[in-house]
Amino acid sequence: MAVHAHPDDESSKGAATMARYVAEGHDVRVVTCTGGEAGSVLNSAMDRPEVHANLTEVRREEMARAAKILGVSHRWLGFIDSGLPEGEPMPPLPEGSFAVVPIEEPTEALVAEIREFRPHVVVTYDENGGYPHPDHIRCHEISVAAFEAAADPERFPDAGEPWQPLKLYYSHGFSRAKITTFHEGLLARGLDSPYGEWLGRWDPDKADVMERVTTRVECADYFEYRDDALKAHATQIDPNSRWFAVPLEMQREVWPTEEYELVQSFVDSTLPEDDLFAGIDRKAHS
Ligand SMILES: [Zn+2]
Repeated sequence: MAVHAHPDDESSKGAATMARYVAEGHDVRVVTCTGGEAGSVLNSAMDRPEVHANLTEVRREEMARAAKILGVSHRWLGFIDSGLPEGEPMPPLPEGSFAVVPIEEPTEALVAEIREFRPHVVVTYDENGGYPHPDHIRCHEISVAAFEAAADPERFPDAGEPWQPLKLYYSHGFSRAKITTFHEGLLARGLDSPYGEWLGRWDPDKADVMERVTTRVECADYFEYRDDALKAHATQIDPNSRWFAVPLEMQREVWPTEEYELVQSFVDSTLPEDDLFAGIDRKAHS
């Protein structure tokens, strides 16, 4: 089970890993905390009045297409997108939105999803949200809380039979090592790199997220599914963006994995791992 803040996050974080596990016969479920109601239209081709008028519905359809491409089942947790506040001072978050409702509400909703789906592995964002959006931070908080609470019969007794997921992973935000590898790979092949300026602004003293990675999942054969799923979120992704600047062939060669950090485990596995299910009895989880 992968828990995400908004529709499209599942396609930009760990999508190829999910497509691989689906192909290998696992049941994979994405839970999306909010409907992405506060998202703007980021693709000029989709910037049309009828899209704006029905953005919530359009994003639901996009999410359904992405889930189909990845082969995952999908649930909405049903909370309202908090938006990314901007300005100085920052405006308050919208009343009733995901990041401001009492944390027990979304935690209980996620506990109910965990108790119903009974995942062995749960994946969410790190404590920084992977990217500092209030919904991403809140997604991290409720995932950690629900991972704990799901097995406890005293917590949320109306949310189903207790279930203990065996492993909890974080995915992280952008890795400097990965972007540097892409940048150098593009230049070495005589291609333009869109990453030079970005890398130049990166604080060299800041620890890279790669230092926290425990688990690298080989998923190069599934990068196409990831890109197709991302493009299914047509309002959110410009097909000409730098997301798609790196030829897949080069990605497969220089960085064929997606990265995770194991933060809780009830099974034995040896770090570093190359499989989110390492240490879990195959018969028990297939
Ligand atoms: Zn998001």
